Amino acid sequence: MKCREDNANDDETSCRGVCAKPQKRRYNAWHRLAPKIRYKLFMIASDKITYLDNNATTAIDPAVLEASRPFLEKYFANPSSGYRFAAQVRDAIEQAREQVAALLACEPGEIVFTSCGTESNNTAFHSALETRPECKHIVTTAVEHSAVRKPAQELERHGYEVTVIGVDKSGRLSLRAIADAIQPDTALVSVMWANNETGVIFPIEEIAEIARDKNVPFHTDAVQAAGKIPIKLRELHLQFLSISGHKLHAPKGVGALYVNRRSRFHPFLLGGSHENNRRAGTENAASIVALGKAAEVALLKLSEEQTRVRNLRDRFEKALLEKIPNARVNGAGAPRLANTSSIMFDEIESEAALMMLDQENICCSAGSACRTGSLQASHVLSAMGLVNEQARGSLRFSFGRFNDEKDIDRAIEIVPRVIGKLRALSPTVVR
Ligand code: PLP
Repeated sequence: MKCREDNANDDETSCRGVCAKPQKRRYNAWHRLAPKIRYKLFMIASDKITYLDNNATTAIDPAVLEASRPFLEKYFANPSSGYRFAAQVRDAIEQAREQVAALLACEPGEIVFTSCGTESNNTAFHSALETRPECKHIVTTAVEHSAVRKPAQELERHGYEVTVIGVDKSGRLSLRAIADAIQPDTALVSVMWANNETGVIFPIEEIAEIARDKNVPFHTDAVQAAGKIPIKLRELHLQFLSISGHKLHAPKGVGALYVNRRSRFHPFLLGGSHENNRRAGTENAASIVALGKAAEVALLKLSEEQTRVRNLRDRFEKALLEKIPNARVNGAGAPRLANTSSIMFDEIESEAALMMLDQENICCSAGSACRTGSLQASHVLSAMGLVNEQARGSLRFSFGRFNDEKDIDRAIEIVPRVIGKLRALSPTVVR
C-alpha cells in the first residue's frame, strides 16, 4: 500500500482510503473532471455525507462565514496602514482578540494570533527556550499531537534532554510522574489539555500548580479542548496555551497563542512589528475575524452544545457496543471530551473499515498514522498499552455542532454492518 508522504497537517488519525490502489484509480478519474463539474458533484454528494470526524476539522459555522466575508470582499486594507480604511480592519482584529480572550477567560492583550495550532505550539517551545537559554530539559507526554512531539524530538536531536511521561491503560497521566520529572534545568512542561484521538482530558489545573510550585513555565496544547470544555485562564497559572480555528468552526490556517502577560516572551517569526512585536507577518484579517466569531459562538453555546453532543455520542457508543461483540471504548475509564469516541474492534484493519465506510459516505478516522508505505499503530493507543493489532483495529468517531440524531441512526446501522463484513473476511476469526 502506498500513501501520502506526509499526513502531519491533519490530526494524524485521518489518513484514509488514499492508501489503496482502487481508491487511487477513482481519485485519478475524479481529477480528470473539470473543476467546476467536480465542485458541483461534490456539493451534491456532500449533502449525503455523515461527517463524524470533527476532531480532524469542523465545518465553518454560517455565522462565522458571514462575519468574515466583508474582510475578504470589501475591507481588504492592510491593518498596519495609516488611513481610516485600514483602521476598520484593525478594529475588527481587536474585536476578535476580545472574543477569543472571552472564550479563554484571559486578557485580550494575552492573545497572539498565529497561522495554526502547530505554529502556536512551536512558538511556545521557542519562546520558553530562548528566554531560559541555560535550561536544556523539557517534560512532555507520550500522547501529544505531532505538533508537540516533533518539536520535542527535534530539540532532542539538538542536545536537549526530553522526559516523556507515559499514560496508563485508560490514557491517564500520573501527576507524581510529572512532578518527579521536573529538574532544576527544565525549560518547559508541555501537556495537552485533551487528546485528539481518545478525547481523554488531562488535569491541567493540577499540572499548572505543580509547574508553578517548581517555577517552570507550562504550556498546554488546547486545540481539542477549546470550545468543548470551559477554560478559565484567569484562575490558572500557566504561561502558554494553543488553539486552532478549524477545530471550532472557523477556517483552517488561523490559530492563537495565549501568552501570560507576566511571562517573558520571544517571538518565533521575526519581521514587522505585528501583534505587538510578538508575531511578525501581515495579519490574516478575515480568518482572525472568523476565529473571533467562532470563539464567541462557542462560548455562547458551550454548555448546551456539549450536553447535546454527549447524548449523541453516548447513544452511538452504547448501540455499537451492544451490536458489535468484542468492541471496546479506548479511554473509557478516564474523563473524556463529550464529542469523541475511539473504539477498538477485534479482528479488523481500520484502513479497510475506513474505505468501506467511505463508500457509505461516513467520514471518520483510523487509530493509525499512515507513513510512506506502512501503517504504524497510533502512538497514543500504543502508549495506552494496546498491541499493534488492537491499535490498528481502532476507529475514531468525533461528533460536533452539525451532527444530529439522523447521523447517529445511520452510523448505528452502517458501522456494525461494515465491521461484520470485515470480520467475515478475516482469516483469523474462528467461525
Ligand atoms: N494539536 C492537536 C491536539 C490537534 O488535534 C491538532 C490538529 O489536529 C493540532 C495541534 C494542529 O493544529 P493545526 O492543524 O491548526 O496546525
